[in-house]
This record gives sequence, C-alpha cells and structure tokens, in this order.
Amino acid sequence: MPEFAGKPACTCLAAWLPVFEATIGRSPRWFQLIGDAPASAGFHKGGGSADCEPLTIDEIRTARNMGAAAWYRPWAGNYHTHMRLNGCPHNTIAQPQVADLNAGRDGTGPLYDNAGAPDNGPRDGVQWPLRTWRQGIDWAKEQDMPSPKDWTAEDWAVVQEKLAKPLVKAIWDAAVDKAGTAARAALRKAGEKAK
Ligand SMILES: [Zn+2]
Ligand SMILES: [Zn+2]
Repeated sequence: MPEFAGKPACTCLAAWLPVFEATIGRSPRWFQLIGDAPASAGFHKGGGSADCEPLTIDEIRTARNMGAAAWYRPWAGNYHTHMRLNGCPHNTIAQPQVADLNAGRDGTGPLYDNAGAPDNGPRDGVQWPLRTWRQGIDWAKEQDMPSPKDWTAEDWAVVQEKLAKPLVKAIWDAAVDKAGTAARAALRKAGEKAK
C-alpha cells in the first residue's frame, strides 16, 4: 500500500498530497489519511480523505482549487482540516461530500444529520464545481512559479543552502540585470563548467 508522511494512503492521496504541499510551500501535520476514527463516520475508510492541522483560508482555497472538498472543522477538542479528493474511487462513502460543498454546505450532511449546515468558506476564488483531483494536479502545475527577478534575498539564501555558491552567484548576478535568458545562459555556463 502506498504511504504518505508515514501513513497508509491510496494511490490518489499518494499522488495528490506531495503536489499540494509543494503548492502551499509547507508540510502540514497530517493526523489521519486512511483510517477509521469513530468521529470520522467512515469518511476515511479506504482512501481519498485526509485530516491535518487547521490550514489557512488561502491554503483551503488552494486545496479546493486542486479538487479537494476541504473544510476547516473548528470542532471542540478536534480542530482540524478535513479533505476529500473529488473522484477517488477508493472510498465512495465520502464522495457525496463533494456535491455538498458544490451546493454550499459543510459536507457533514451526507453521513451525519442532513442538517445542511452552510459551508464556512472560502467560496471566492474557487472554481465551481470542484475539479477532480487529477485535474487539480494539472491546475497546480500550471500556476506561475515566481520568476527569479521576483525572488527576495531570503529566497536566494535558501537556494544557496541547496546549491553550490558559485552557481547561485552566477544566477543571482544574471537575474539582477536581466532575468530570463541571461539566467538560463548562466545556468548553461555553470553546467558546462561542472561537466
Ligand atoms: Zn476527516
Ligand atoms: Zn484514492
């Protein structure tokens, strides 16, 4: 069985979660992927669902745009974010949550009380109805990465930890006066030297 963050996952979660983390730029603490916690009422059996620490509004918006029915659950003693991947075939119990979110509700109705509690958001800046998780991965990969000229000195410090200093300096110098082609030429040059 595939794993993510040391927890058993379905193939959909194993493909989607790394792209989600790369897109939001951090690794949240994951509480439950596949599981059968009593409070989850079957939503996590077999796959397709994930619980993590509370995410920001922007992060929930990103999850939704990536094809996850995601909600902040400010439940007493159990603050978390719940996500259900639209189109995961490994757990059909939770799939109605996607339609519930599309319709503006909080996703608890299909298994709990059908009370139709309203979605606590965000609803702006989200594509409705939700993409499938596969379309969501494609969408995430199409999002613009910041170009070198938009990077801050702090960004470059992080890069410098990972790359050799001369290479970083070459890119930095090129990026400062002419981003793009100059940076690419510098990279090519550094690559030739490394051969
Ligand atoms: Zn959950
Ligand atoms: Zn799945």
